[in-house]
Amino acid sequence: MTMSDTIEADLPFLTALRRDLHAHPELGFEEYRTSDIVARLLEEAGLSVHRGLGGTGVVGTLQIGNGTRQIGLRADMDALAMPELVDRPHRSTVPGKMHACGHDGHTTLLLGAARELARRRGFSGTVHFIFQPAEEGRGGADRMVSEGLFDLFPCDAVYGLHNMPGLDVDEIAVVEGPQLASSDSWRVTFRGIGTHGAKPHLGRDPVTATGSFLVALQTIVGRVVDPLQPAVVSACSVQAGQADVLNVIPETVEIGGTARAYSAEVRDQLEAEIGRLANGTATTFGLSADYRYTRRIPPVVNHPDATSRALGAARDVFGKVRTSFPPSTAGDDFAALAQDRPGCYVWLGNGPAVEGAIHHNGGYDFNDEAIGPGVRFWTRLVERELAADDHGTA
Ligand SMILES: [Zn+2]
Ligand SMILES: [Zn+2]
Repeated sequence: MTMSDTIEADLPFLTALRRDLHAHPELGFEEYRTSDIVARLLEEAGLSVHRGLGGTGVVGTLQIGNGTRQIGLRADMDALAMPELVDRPHRSTVPGKMHACGHDGHTTLLLGAARELARRRGFSGTVHFIFQPAEEGRGGADRMVSEGLFDLFPCDAVYGLHNMPGLDVDEIAVVEGPQLASSDSWRVTFRGIGTHGAKPHLGRDPVTATGSFLVALQTIVGRVVDPLQPAVVSACSVQAGQADVLNVIPETVEIGGTARAYSAEVRDQLEAEIGRLANGTATTFGLSADYRYTRRIPPVVNHPDATSRALGAARDVFGKVRTSFPPSTAGDDFAALAQDRPGCYVWLGNGPAVEGAIHHNGGYDFNDEAIGPGVRFWTRLVERELAADDHGTA
């Protein structure tokens, strides 16, 4: 059978698998059932399987021929802590948890590719199929790396994929440069002197200072960062006083938020500038300020060489290939895998956003029509990346 025939023949199995994963969502670092299924299917396909990196992480390795090049393909396995709001046959069976980002689809695609590549054995080199836990803000990729992922499984390049509602299922976007923003969090605590609400002159009021700080905060993006460089600074939490105590000026205000950028330089700038404003505000109002900036996820920036390899595979498989597509202000910890080696992260078409249901919406569902194109893309990428006829030395 040809490649498309054998993938076609596997589609009913893969579709049932995707729906089964959808019905049994698990949160980050708790992907016990999912990782059992992944490991079993990889073993059945004849791959060597390593478990335990990042707790529930699974790596399947397929080595064919004498090529020395090694590449990593990444899928994320976790779901989100939110209820599924739409009734469907494969609706989540776990209250308060759902696959609202399509990681059930990502896991299925990569398993489908592992099965196909193990059947065809049409390359020369080594592929590591990396199934990571906890992409949704819990640091699964970071943990796999810090527990030795690339010592055990060295990779000359890594590839990642995310489904994208709004692109057709026969469409893919493969774009060099920034794809996803860095995702960091920050906290500022203003400490003053609490006093009677009627006698502000006897204290130091952190609430008024907070108002000034929050207004000034948006001048970082508006007045400090290069206007040609995207950046976001948002305050997302303000905690002070008590809602039913309206005659006490509290001693402290705690403010927290997020910061996003697409380059290391702007990311450094945001960290420094939020702190400068916090300390400056404290000085202005006679308070003290504690400032903490936590680096969570670096930006995902596609490498030229890895991007051109992915683009070649995309053009072989898809009718429509976009080479320009707006980057997302979301983050993906694939960045932790691609930080020290060439990487490319692509957007796989997922069809129209049904009734407006996009990622992280309670009505979202991965489109099974995208399974075939996704499996073909991964398969073709490996067979080009580790082309048998050049003995993997390309
Ligand atoms: Zn998500
Ligand atoms: Zn996602």
